[in-house]
Amino acid sequence: MDPLERDYIARWASTILGFPCIDYLSEETASTIFHELSRSEETLNPIRDTWGNWDWQYCASQRKGLTYVPHVDQLLRSALSRRVRGSNATMWPANKKFALVLTHDVDMVSESAISLCGLRQCAACELVKPNSLLRKSLSLSRMSARYMSQAFRDRLDDCLWHYEDWLKVEESYGFRSTFYFFPSPVKKPAQWDCIYQFPDIVRFNGKRMTVREMMQSIHRAGWEIGVHGSYRSAFDGEVMKREKGCIEDALGSRVTSVRQHYLHYDVRITPTLQGEAGLTTDSTQGFNRSIGFRAGTSFPYWCWDHVHQNPLRVLEIPLHIMDGSLFHPAALEYDEEFAVRHALQLMDAVEAVGGCLTLLWHAEYLNRPKYRNSYKRLLDEAAQRGAWGCGAGELYEWWLNRETSVAMDHLRTASTASPSL
Ligand SMILES: [Zn+2]
Repeated sequence: MDPLERDYIARWASTILGFPCIDYLSEETASTIFHELSRSEETLNPIRDTWGNWDWQYCASQRKGLTYVPHVDQLLRSALSRRVRGSNATMWPANKKFALVLTHDVDMVSESAISLCGLRQCAACELVKPNSLLRKSLSLSRMSARYMSQAFRDRLDDCLWHYEDWLKVEESYGFRSTFYFFPSPVKKPAQWDCIYQFPDIVRFNGKRMTVREMMQSIHRAGWEIGVHGSYRSAFDGEVMKREKGCIEDALGSRVTSVRQHYLHYDVRITPTLQGEAGLTTDSTQGFNRSIGFRAGTSFPYWCWDHVHQNPLRVLEIPLHIMDGSLFHPAALEYDEEFAVRHALQLMDAVEAVGGCLTLLWHAEYLNRPKYRNSYKRLLDEAAQRGAWGCGAGELYEWWLNRETSVAMDHLRTASTASPSL
């Protein structure tokens, strides 16, 4: 195993366990962990799905029946079992038992409204779709009719205009979350991109305001705003930088967290572009059509640069459970009971290793009972179990401080132990 790869695993494992532990890991164990965290299997197999993504069905761990368990965390624990046995210490604030990272992708802000800029983007998207001329025309007519009634709709209510309810439910448990907003306007829209714009009118906390003002209100309340990178940004560094700038200009504040729309992502390219754009935390490495542990771990890890064979300065907070994966007909298609039962199975496994469970519930699904109820039930359960409910940026800060303090402790111990000259 390359020394850089071994150092990378040493840093990750000691951040979790709080002491240098690489010497307790066999070459084989360290190599298995590296293979999973670096996602090297995704560089070796060119297969991708409809959206150009790696997904659960391609993982070797899926064929071994391991995607629903954090098998890498379990491997680390079992290799260190003698050292960690009997210890009740966790790595989380106030010795919380595990972390629950809460996130929302904001793909829509209205069920009915559309701006002129949104209509233009919609037309551009429609032109690149592989649909018949008739279907394209019908879709454009529908969108135009939507735009024509805009003046009236602005004064009416919209069933999505109560996104403050996400904040209220999280606040009731003392939790926070990250809202990933889509940049606007998108320069080269793809057919799957979102169409809302920052000047669009919404209602938030009972007040009429623009999307831009809603983002600022959420941020002022103590929640994090991140970038929901457009489909093409995953492969285009200039687009990625521009979109980060778009969100920062609208928010009037720096943003550091990102999740790619549709989870469109390539481990060889996207994390490098995110890092070059100045983003420090990503939460895209998950599944669209199932739930589980893409890298076999519940814990964050630094993304690996497959070109220069180095760790990048982008921390991956892996995504484990997405609402669409639980309920969509093209995914698991569960009802509420089945969804909660399976999600709790993952929570059990994460709690057992003192790890971190990441949820993604789309902001626009808050009126769908099974989506809303299941979210609340998972938060309720996590709070009862003593979880730390936080956003991606908060977790990044905590991880970075923990990594630094463990490294400093190690240096102090080593200098005390070395003979003075
Ligand atoms: Zn999205």
